[in-house]
Amino acid sequence: MKKNKKVLIVGTGIGGLTAGLRLVKKGYDVEFVEKYFQAGGRLNQIKKEGFVFDTGPSFFTMSYVFKDFAKDCGISLPFSYEELDPLYSINLDNKKVFYIYKDIKKLSKQFENIEESFEKKFIDYLKKSEDIFNETFNKVIQKNYNTLLDYILTLIKVNPRYIPYLFRSFYDEIKRNFSSEEARIIFSLISSFWAKLLLIQWQFILCFLMLSLKMTGIILLRVVCIKL
Ligand SMILES: Cc1cc2nc3c(=O)[nH]c(=O)nc-3n(C[C@H](O)[C@H](O)[C@H](O)COP(=O)(O)OP(=O)(O)OC[C@H]3O[C@@H](n4cnc5c(N)ncnc54)[C@H](O)[C@@H]3O)c2cc1C
Repeated sequence: MKKNKKVLIVGTGIGGLTAGLRLVKKGYDVEFVEKYFQAGGRLNQIKKEGFVFDTGPSFFTMSYVFKDFAKDCGISLPFSYEELDPLYSINLDNKKVFYIYKDIKKLSKQFENIEESFEKKFIDYLKKSEDIFNETFNKVIQKNYNTLLDYILTLIKVNPRYIPYLFRSFYDEIKRNFSSEEARIIFSLISSFWAKLLLIQWQFILCFLMLSLKMTGIILLRVVCIKL
């Protein structure tokens, strides 16, 4: 009998689990190792004294990735998407609550007297993010890299006008676009999910922010985790 090829996946976050399912579908024999006592990675739960706390994600920012995943694995998603508007709220020092609305006019209204020409700045910022996303998503992010050289050779193909972004932290980039403390905190908040990196991978962060505003759904990712 022909033996399946074996694959060992280190880490059972959503990335490891979904990669594993895709490989199983292709006929590989997949084994996972996980250093934590339970699967899920950042998408996880802490249970204490009868309370359950979600440790990470709560909404889908890239719903189409899950649709592709379900298609590749020949399964149907065990949930449906529901659009959220506002996406979330941010409470700054309990003084003012900001809502992340999809409607830019509604969003901008909250920054009156806080950030001059907010609407224009925000639209410019989104446009810039969209350009970077379009330039990098298929070319860089959706590719597999076996060596550092492979990665560098791919980066070289990206329009050189984006090179300076590689040397700026996400917060530095936000500071160039918005002058108020409030706007800077609110629009850089998302990068804290990827913290620790000083030079944050700007492509991922900008994609995330852009897609956050275009996103189409919510369902706790926990559901996916359980079903997987
Ligand atoms: C507070 C918070 C909120 C977020 N909100 C959202 C959201 O709303 N929407 C969204 O789309 N994303 C959100 N994210 C981001 C999302 O959670 C992550 O992008 C995603 O869970 C990362 O999955 P991953 O598999 O790439 O990595 P991880 O989840 O980090 O998984 C890596 C796994 O590998 C294990 N591991 C590491 N090293 C080893 C080793 N040497 N041996 C064995 N195992 C190892 C770890 O224990 C872990 O289980 C949020 C993140 C946080 C922290």
